[in-house]
Amino acid sequence: MTPDRTPLLIVGHGTRSAAGVAQFAALVDRIRRRGVVDDVEGGFIELSRPPLTDAVGALAGRGHRNLVALPLVLAAAGHGKGDIPAALARERRRHPGLRYAYGRPLGPHPLLHDILADRIDAVADGADRAGTWVALIGRGSTDPDANAEVAKVARLLWEGRGYAGVEPGFISLAEPSVPAVLERLRRLGARRIVVAPYFLFAGVLPDRIVAQTDAYAADHPKLDVRVADLIGDCDALADLVLQRHTEARRGDIRMNCDTCAYRVALPGFADKVGRPQTPHHHPDDPAGGPGHHHHHDQHHDPGLRPGQVAIVGGGPGPDDLITVRGKALLAAADVVVADRLAPTGLLAGLRPEVLVIDAAKVPRGPSMGQDTINDTLVAHARAGKRVVRLKGGDPYVFGRGHEEVQACAAAGIDTVLVPGVSSAVAAPALAGVPVTHRGVAHDVTVVSGHLPPEHPGSLVDWPALGRSRGTVVLLMAVDTIGRIAATLVAHGRAADTPVLVVQDAGHPTQRSLPTTLGEVGELAARQGIRPPAVFVLGPVVALAGPAARTGRTGQPARARATA
Ligand code: SAH
Repeated sequence: MTPDRTPLLIVGHGTRSAAGVAQFAALVDRIRRRGVVDDVEGGFIELSRPPLTDAVGALAGRGHRNLVALPLVLAAAGHGKGDIPAALARERRRHPGLRYAYGRPLGPHPLLHDILADRIDAVADGADRAGTWVALIGRGSTDPDANAEVAKVARLLWEGRGYAGVEPGFISLAEPSVPAVLERLRRLGARRIVVAPYFLFAGVLPDRIVAQTDAYAADHPKLDVRVADLIGDCDALADLVLQRHTEARRGDIRMNCDTCAYRVALPGFADKVGRPQTPHHHPDDPAGGPGHHHHHDQHHDPGLRPGQVAIVGGGPGPDDLITVRGKALLAAADVVVADRLAPTGLLAGLRPEVLVIDAAKVPRGPSMGQDTINDTLVAHARAGKRVVRLKGGDPYVFGRGHEEVQACAAAGIDTVLVPGVSSAVAAPALAGVPVTHRGVAHDVTVVSGHLPPEHPGSLVDWPALGRSRGTVVLLMAVDTIGRIAATLVAHGRAADTPVLVVQDAGHPTQRSLPTTLGEVGELAARQGIRPPAVFVLGPVVALAGPAARTGRTGQPARARATA
């Protein structure tokens, strides 16, 4: 058989245990001696020797430019999804032209389940499986998907093997703990329990499993509780590693994207979507702290990476009309540049170290000029921060969002755009007015009233708008509404066309005033309408709930509808 020419780089996360390091080295050696793959190296991303960079350096030094990099992890959690890809990305910068295919985690796999059953039976010492309960103990993760993998392995280990039962438990960061799962099995009637660590090699955490099991056993002398050996360096594990190498070389890399908390919003974990892994510490981890960053640049897009700017539409103002994606990126930000009309209530929930810049405030002038905002976004992105530009409504509806995208692009900064719920549609809706309605209006025109009709810079075809029959929504028109209404009437729109003014849509201070095109200018002035407000006009306005027509104020649309 010709050896496989694509070298194999085995990547471990490192351990404080000398025995664990020796087992890793023995496995690398065992795989090398098989002669199936031409060139094999192993290295650790932290704590242990040899470091990954030496292993990559050795392969690169022998002329290799295409590798299979295989994370030696049982389940995809932070190490496999974040730390190891990040370390490999650093190696690629160090060795221009280096490419690698990233292999999938080892488990779950029948070979691993067979090894586990061997270890369990060995420690059970000939006792029948039907009387043996198994506690399968995983590492535990803040990533529910990784914990679910352990539960899945527990089930697969039980299927068809005749154990009384197999229950999952965790030594760190997840429940049930070792004593909790042992107590559960005892209450189920277990007399003989084998604790099977779902761990490859020796380390601080497997030692802790033994200690906690011993403590529980000492408190329950009537129970027979034993701890099985670890998976360890063995032929079956070498077989599995080689199988994963072949898969990666063929581009067959399956990951559980559908149940990954970094990709989909799981109950209680919605804040993780698109976020880097939050630093946390297993006893085997180094001290960590700032700089111990976890990235998901392998497959978890759309996230927000250092040096990127996300232009996020925040919706019309309330904290909960932002999109799930917008909220996740906001939670990932190091720097937030917020508009006055953005959902500023969300800013209080940011981590204390996040720098919040109020774009509505000085320097120089009543509001920060667009150039200053653009420069601020670029400067923080260049400094390697994750920057969120939080805007009101939708960034691309009179939001200057695209100017910011263009400014970032000109500076070579990556941007992510997150659409938002625009006040052009939401403000009428929150006041009970649909901007279209079957048989009533088949078009809606969203217009900026920033420039009055007679202004030479106005790009709006006011006469055409006057002739139109559908819905018109005017934004930024508080100061110009009188002149706009007069212009529309002058070009043919009926003076009795119903109009609704909606101020502070979505806020507790929301108020809506019904009127007509002929009277709206005078009414807005008399009632002291202030921005932010939209004016919606056309036959759809007549469909609003009764309270809107009688001018009651401060009532959310839903309360009116049920009143
Ligand atoms: N990009 C924003 C619009 C920015 S222009 C969006 O898509 O909603 C600012 C104008 O939006 C304001 O003058 C006002 O007309 C409107 N607006 C924004 N928030 C509003 C709110 N909560 N209630 C009413 N109008 C609002």
